Amino acid sequence: AGARMLFGRRFVSLEASGEGLTFAVERIREGGTEGTYAGTVIGADGAFSAVARTAGWPRLATLPVVQATVRLPADLPQDTTRIWFIPEDTPYFYWLIPESPTRGVLGLIGEDRQEARQRLGRFLERRRLEPIEFQGARIPGYARWVPIHQRVGQGDVYLVGDAAGQVKVTTVGGIVTGFRGALGVAEAILNAGASRELTALRRELNLHLLIRRALHHFAQKDYVGLLDLLNRSAQRSLGAHTRDEAGKLLWRLCLLRPRVLLLGLRAFLTARSQRRP
Ligand SMILES: Cc1cc2nc3c(=O)[nH]c(=O)nc-3n(C[C@H](O)[C@H](O)[C@H](O)COP(=O)(O)OP(=O)(O)OC[C@H]3O[C@@H](n4cnc5c(N)ncnc54)[C@H](O)[C@@H]3O)c2cc1C
Repeated sequence: AGARMLFGRRFVSLEASGEGLTFAVERIREGGTEGTYAGTVIGADGAFSAVARTAGWPRLATLPVVQATVRLPADLPQDTTRIWFIPEDTPYFYWLIPESPTRGVLGLIGEDRQEARQRLGRFLERRRLEPIEFQGARIPGYARWVPIHQRVGQGDVYLVGDAAGQVKVTTVGGIVTGFRGALGVAEAILNAGASRELTALRRELNLHLLIRRALHHFAQKDYVGLLDLLNRSAQRSLGAHTRDEAGKLLWRLCLLRPRVLLLGLRAFLTARSQRRP
């Protein structure tokens, strides 16, 4: 075994060739392309994965993220993240995350980029926060499990991370789930396709989708109701499990505060009866 890292190259295309795949990479600095041969190719090239496109996966739906760098307000400790739930602006949330002793990033996930950008501007004005710089990006919005493997001729192509839409759609975060996807692909390659990690990841992502379906139509009063239900033991449980352990977290929370389940169920059924996503 061993590995060779090749930097400064951009993947361009791949095609079936003999018993494997040839793929072309572009040399970014020097210019020109070079061809390489492999039996297996793993695409970890993000939401707009060129590996996925050339191997025949359909394009993923993505959500816009917009954020601004701001000076930290005086009342925000450097080790604290602040979030706001404002369902009229976004079914997700606004965040303010300190990134240095004096600065932080304030942003939101929206459904339309331009609208999200306008809302961010208005939010900054209302909070009297001066934007230093704006940033924008797109993240896949997980809607269903994306098969991570495809045969191209006699070669194998796999996807991991954002390229496979492995993003938990409650918070639209894909760092931990992307690493789990990478571990799962390694298992699948070593075990002729079988991977416990991928089965567990799929379950996790689907659970986040279920929670998102309930949260997506929460009104302000529902968030207030939810926060009111979080007594000390429920808060301790939230502190003990990460957001990447939704199953454990939800199970503990429902045991401690069964009304959380009722609240979620009601929101979920309301969304279904109105045929909303
Ligand atoms: C503003 C913002 C804040 C976020 N905050 C969080 C957070 O707090 N928590 C969280 O869990 N997630 C967060 N996310 C999401 C998280 O960043 C992604 O889910 C995660 O980075 C996905 O990792 P990845 O390696 O699959 O893809 P990426 O991080 O997108 O990496 C893909 C890599 O592939 C390279 N690449 C692309 N095309 C090619 C090509 N043709 N050839 C060669 N290389 C190529 C790119 O240059 C890049 O380096 C945030 C995203 C954004 C935009």
